Amino acid sequence: MGIWSGSCHCGAVRFRVEGDIEELTRCDCSLCRRRGALMAKVHESGLVIEAGEDNLALYQWNTGVARHYFCRTCGIYPFHRKRSAPDSYGVNVGCLEDFDPSQVEAPYRQADGVSMTVKGQGRPEWTGPRED
Ligand SMILES: [Zn+2]
Repeated sequence: MGIWSGSCHCGAVRFRVEGDIEELTRCDCSLCRRRGALMAKVHESGLVIEAGEDNLALYQWNTGVARHYFCRTCGIYPFHRKRSAPDSYGVNVGCLEDFDPSQVEAPYRQADGVSMTVKGQGRPEWTGPRED
């Protein structure tokens, strides 16, 4: 099990992640495509906000279930409350000190975010990762 310190760019938001990071994901939904972060899934019990919770702004879209946070000062996305796993966060591993993504065995998993978007023919529920 690892413990990592995390922060936004300006340092207003600081948090700690405790647990195992075994898989990293990228997502191709319209938000993640723009955000470009490599993410780890962390259970809510393993994410502790140490400073700056009131400096987090909330962005919600699509079904409004996921809660995407970003720093009001520097705009960096540190983590979001997941829609596909509501008891977990997606954490931007680029915000973690001394975390080397190359140490995670699989390079990363491509999450199928596009088809989770409800508009048009999108599916309303997560049905699992993309196969390719
Ligand atoms: Zn900041």
